[in-house]
Amino acid sequence: MNTATHDPHPAPTLEVLPRDLSAYRRGNTGVDYVHRFESGQPGPHVLINALTHGNEFCGMVAACHLLDTGVRPLRGTLTISFANVAAYESFDPQEPFKSRQIDHNLNRIWSTNWLEGSEDSIELRRARQLRPVVAAADHILDIHSTSQDVVPFWVYPHFARNAAVARALPLPTVHLVMPKGLGSGCPLIQHGRHGVADSDAGAALVVECGQHFLQASAERAIRVSHAFLAHFGLVQSAAPAGSQGSEEHRRFELLRTHVIQHEDFRFVRPLKGFETFAQGELIGHDGPQAITAPCDDCTVFMPARTPIVGREGVYLTKPMA
Ligand SMILES: [Zn+2]
Repeated sequence: MNTATHDPHPAPTLEVLPRDLSAYRRGNTGVDYVHRFESGQPGPHVLINALTHGNEFCGMVAACHLLDTGVRPLRGTLTISFANVAAYESFDPQEPFKSRQIDHNLNRIWSTNWLEGSEDSIELRRARQLRPVVAAADHILDIHSTSQDVVPFWVYPHFARNAAVARALPLPTVHLVMPKGLGSGCPLIQHGRHGVADSDAGAALVVECGQHFLQASAERAIRVSHAFLAHFGLVQSAAPAGSQGSEEHRRFELLRTHVIQHEDFRFVRPLKGFETFAQGELIGHDGPQAITAPCDDCTVFMPARTPIVGREGVYLTKPMA
């Protein structure tokens, strides 16, 4: 099923490799790989979640860093979780993209239909275990990385509460905003009240920290985690006053998620992400179907490295005014 031979890009450098997480298995919440710290002071409940995708190591490095350095919240509650450890443990350096998931994409099954449905898989079982953990959080940072070495960016539903937090943090400065959701399933950050426009939920953001296996991505994940916690007052801010928000933010609106329908899926040229296309310009082929740009300045995000039928091929976006 994994069609690695279709990958036109050079093999990635594996700067960060998995480490043994067995010491983090037993948390204090009754759910494996979930750790919770109460400050005893009023304040929000913030969840920092890693490894929603098994081969996205930057989040694992950040979560381990928080736990290893003994970070404790000054106010509110801090929960730190490692989501898909089963997929993570299946990592094979010869096929580094394969351990993203085992059966299901753990970031597409957060709807009631999936969680309360009759299907079973490693990821569905884990999502059902993690459901109360996610539901209990006011603010969620879900740490991800990309298959290609592109700039870091936020991904979030088009709610003001999300945009406000993403804009307030020093990085990333690129935003992928989803007015209509992902179009290919319900991500963790849209579970329950976090997926509802008018709700008492706090912010729920995905941060894409850079390429999966780069040390720079891991360092970015640590910085973003700290900034996220500092924003809500759980830790002291590391940044000097006035150092935030100087760089211009670029926001893109998700227009369409193309899910691959045919074995014969290909782009017109190798794509990494952030390439732009004019309206009507050909981006790729999915079997007999042409994928064309629906607007001018159409900007692609997360083009598939190895096309797999049923998974996302490419996200088509346009810059927001
Ligand atoms: Zn991911």
